[in-house]
Amino acid sequence: MVRDETANAHFDAVVVGAGLAGLYMLHRLRQLGLRVRVYEAGGGVGGTWYWNRYPGARCDIESMEYSYSFSPELEQEWVWTEKYPSQPELLRYIEHVADRFDLRRDIRLGTRVAAARFDEAASRWVIRTEPGEGAAQVSGDDLGAGAEETVSAQFLIMATGCLSAVKSPEVEGLERFRGGCHHTGRWPHEGVDFTGRRVAVIGTGSSGIQCIPIIAEQAAHLTVFQRTPNFSMPAHNVSLDPETQRARKATYPDHRRLARESGLGVPVDLPVKSALDAEPDERERRYQENWDKGTLFGILVAYTDILIDTRANDTAAEFIRAKIREIVADPDVAAALSPTDHPVGTKRPCLDSGYYATYNRDDVALVDLRRSPIVEITPKGIRTADAEHEFDDIVLATGFDAMTGALLSVDIRGKGGTSLREKWAEGPRTYLGIATAGFPNLFTVTGPGSPSVLSNMMVSIEQHVEWIADCVAFLRERGIASIDPSVEAEDAWVEHVKVVGDFTLYPTADSWYMGANVPGKPRAVLPYCGGVGVYRQQCDEVAAKDYEGFTLSS
Ligand code: FAD
Ligand code: NAP
Repeated sequence: MVRDETANAHFDAVVVGAGLAGLYMLHRLRQLGLRVRVYEAGGGVGGTWYWNRYPGARCDIESMEYSYSFSPELEQEWVWTEKYPSQPELLRYIEHVADRFDLRRDIRLGTRVAAARFDEAASRWVIRTEPGEGAAQVSGDDLGAGAEETVSAQFLIMATGCLSAVKSPEVEGLERFRGGCHHTGRWPHEGVDFTGRRVAVIGTGSSGIQCIPIIAEQAAHLTVFQRTPNFSMPAHNVSLDPETQRARKATYPDHRRLARESGLGVPVDLPVKSALDAEPDERERRYQENWDKGTLFGILVAYTDILIDTRANDTAAEFIRAKIREIVADPDVAAALSPTDHPVGTKRPCLDSGYYATYNRDDVALVDLRRSPIVEITPKGIRTADAEHEFDDIVLATGFDAMTGALLSVDIRGKGGTSLREKWAEGPRTYLGIATAGFPNLFTVTGPGSPSVLSNMMVSIEQHVEWIADCVAFLRERGIASIDPSVEAEDAWVEHVKVVGDFTLYPTADSWYMGANVPGKPRAVLPYCGGVGVYRQQCDEVAAKDYEGFTLSS
């Protein structure tokens, strides 16, 4: 609850989060002449790429796609070294952006926004902060870090990230474990040396799949605890040669436009044929081409109906399962690693470097938690229903409370003191994924109900930031004090998101897209499945009609 304090500093806008979204938001708002303050819980900028320092952490969208497009100079100057950039390279890039655009002076690091209350009389947000998780890591000369303060702002912009609130496994006894225990999303900055150690990894989503092969190489022994097997394809990561880079830079404007107009934020040739109309040989060839290319979305868009028809989907799923059987020597292990409970693509697909082959090592074991669930963590290791395993280290690759976790961890209160947690108790309700009725002048960058995580996030982040900045400019030019979506517009959008989601196979999986990874979280298709190009048009039309669906108050 926001204490009844008087704000001791006043801003035009407060931005929460200094990841890719928060940094660009700050830059755009500054260009409009606004006085902005950014709060970041971490000890540095970078968001995802600040926190996720686990071995093997890397992007699975190509570097030359997963980068800002707003500055042609930046885009031309920056030299990428790999097709899929590693976490250190991405963090260097983001830090460069923060310096190049002189962003740091408006960012309070190590400071968490704990609460925000809309003051209706003043049409302003009153925002309270506390020390953030990264406060200890902020360098001593950053005097404001970790400040407990109350400030006010006309606009509150949540750039808190879709995948920033880490989720622990819901198992007894974690605190009793005497060895090292690290979540992939909160990896120690100094790194972890697994040499000669017995290591457990719990979780086989993208983070687990990336770190398992590398930890296996270092540790004396690795045991992977898998609840649900995932579909993964080889990344075939390579160094980027100067010629490839020069060629892309020469066509960047067109390439970026195609990305913005595309469904997934990456230009891909759209399919015209159903998988069910293709001959088995032809399908095999097409899937193999995509497997060899190492692209995240290739197989999913190889045919028109992979994500909407289970029979079509199963042709792609079976192709990947056959690959697993081919790579993994032990047929029982291959079977355990083969997903059969969800269509391919309905949990986020993974790109890997040697993941399946890792299980051919003598020093790697797989525990299938569906056969023998974890009962508890003991001081020495992990006890499952039928065995006790001892470890020196446990790695939690157990994911995030996605899309709503970070937003709802702040006590946000809108008109009439209504809390966002109460309003979203049955699932998030937004208009366009950008705003929510009853919370004027509050914007959510890549919020629930927008394409966000179903896309190259860079494209979705830039689109939201630019839309929000244009909206703020519109309001200020006309002296409008507040903007708030109408309940009718919001209801219609929530229904639209549901209808489009239900048309796809996404609701058939127990995924974090559905909120199913967090016990008790309401089940709903959290991202908008309509594609980023179509969605952009919808947002632009709303703006062109003077923010249709919003109530503007002077
Ligand atoms: P974030 O980077 O999550 O930044 C949000 C920031 O807000 C965090 O630093 C957090 O500390 C801060 N914050 C949150 N709450 C508060 C608060 N109350 N007060 C103060 N600060 C707060 N996307 C892709 O498109 N392609 C990929 O290949 C890809 N790979 C990924 C790999 C990993 C390991 C993860 C976890 C995510 C990946 N993503 C990927 C998604 C990724 O999160 C986005 O691409 C992007 O980095 C999100 O940027 P953001 O600024 O919106 O959020
Ligand atoms: P995730 O996909 O949610 O995977 C978490 C894993 O932990 C799942 O296998 C899950 O099993 C398991 N798990 C969770 N709680 C458990 C419990 N109590 N007991 C046993 N197992 C448990 O999380 P993530 O791997 O961190 O990835 C999250 C998202 O971040 C990705 O989907 C992607 O969008 C992004 N990401 C991208 C990359 C990349 O390659 N660029 C890398 C990392 C992350 P269940 O499936 O059964 O729940």
